Amino acid sequence: MSGLIPTKLCPDCDKEKPTEAFGRNKRLKDGLARYCKECFQRRSRASYRKRMSERGKQVRERPDEFLDRRIVETEGLDVATRDFLAGMTDRFAVTLYERLFIPKPWVGPMAWDQL
Ligand SMILES: [Zn+2]
Repeated sequence: MSGLIPTKLCPDCDKEKPTEAFGRNKRLKDGLARYCKECFQRRSRASYRKRMSERGKQVRERPDEFLDRRIVETEGLDVATRDFLAGMTDRFAVTLYERLFIPKPWVGPMAWDQL
């Protein structure tokens, strides 16, 4: 790196990145997270998956089902996800949430406005 912008070495991906690429951690001397944001995200996703599988739960990952593959490839998963969320109508968001997270027996013919 040029030395003009402050950088830090990420011990996970082993790349020297601008300090902007790191989150914050007040407990560390330099005030920056140990790993770059990319690695931090990958690590926290991995540990979430691990914790869930220890509880016998499976984390479902099917970005292709919802996200634009071209955007995933060119701009990354985060951008594609943001795009997807920004393009949702409220009704679609609620319907998708129900489909993904509400246990089936709870979604009956009775809706709140019918109570
Ligand atoms: Zn890294």
